[in-house]
Amino acid sequence: AQPVLELRDLERHFAGPGGVVRAADGVTLTVGKGEVVGLVGESGSGKSTVGRCAVRLDEPTGGAIHINGQDVTRLSRRALRPLRKDFHLVFQDPSSSLDPRMTVGQIIAEPLRLHGIAKGDAARARVAELLAQVGLRPEHADRHPHELSGGQRQRISIARALSVDPDLLVADEPTSALDVSVQASVLNLLADLQRDRGFGCLFITHDLAAVEFLADRIAVMYLGQIVEQAPTAELFADPKHPYTQALLSAAPVPDPALQRTRERIVLSGELPSPLAPPPGCRFHTRCPLAVDRCRVEVPALRTLPGDGGREVSCHLVADDGTAPDAAAAQTL
Ligand code: SF4
Ligand code: MG
Repeated sequence: AQPVLELRDLERHFAGPGGVVRAADGVTLTVGKGEVVGLVGESGSGKSTVGRCAVRLDEPTGGAIHINGQDVTRLSRRALRPLRKDFHLVFQDPSSSLDPRMTVGQIIAEPLRLHGIAKGDAARARVAELLAQVGLRPEHADRHPHELSGGQRQRISIARALSVDPDLLVADEPTSALDVSVQASVLNLLADLQRDRGFGCLFITHDLAAVEFLADRIAVMYLGQIVEQAPTAELFADPKHPYTQALLSAAPVPDPALQRTRERIVLSGELPSPLAPPPGCRFHTRCPLAVDRCRVEVPALRTLPGDGGREVSCHLVADDGTAPDAAAAQTL
């Protein structure tokens, strides 16, 4: 089936005060119909840039974006407008994306009106239905965003995004601005809605427990590039890239029965600046396994054997998928 989102060699460079910032630097990623793809990595890895480019809120400087098979990379804002109902972005902080002067009802109905899907009584009925679907009451339609809690506001931005039945939802840290106590309920809501409606989702997060819960497949980013990509269960069971191993070693184990014992891998140093990514493997300045070759030769993102379409970029991962153990290297 046609993927809902296809990024090919996506690049987003921009001029910063100290030179060219390579926020996204050759990202190739697809989200299938009804598939949830998690995009994880430290803050500063370029995840949000990829998400914003995917829905054309940020302009890529290279590569291509296809939505439902259509090349939207260079479509004008005007040409893009009718397509906007196919893809939506839900932000980390709902307060910034909800107009404080509008009522909740108006906020949710706006996309319906803009895309000529419903107005008047039909729109009001649709709003009531959407409010119920996100666990709110019909009365909430008359409130303003500031009268609601953070969790309720995020439910409203989800209702708004889903009002036009998009094929693709890009969710950028949708729960990280919320109280821990309500994060799980918003995640559960997203999971339920995704299952019922079957939209494809690019789920951007640094919350590994959330991504394990929600995603079918995970892509790991480091300094503007994808270093590993695999079906969720495979990635968690057997991370191949030393960076993925380090990232997952810090994740809580949701179910102790899984007996996932991972030795914590502590990375030395800070994430290098995207102004001047290290030569060779970008991770070499922090990799416990780095060898001379890593400092000069860029590792290609290779597809490993198996059905999952697993990809990894590390010189030390063998073609048959045998991977080194970063935890063992650091204790030597
Ligand atoms: Fe580490 Fe080298 Fe692999 Fe990069 S290529 S992750 S530096 S071992
Ligand atoms: Mg971000």
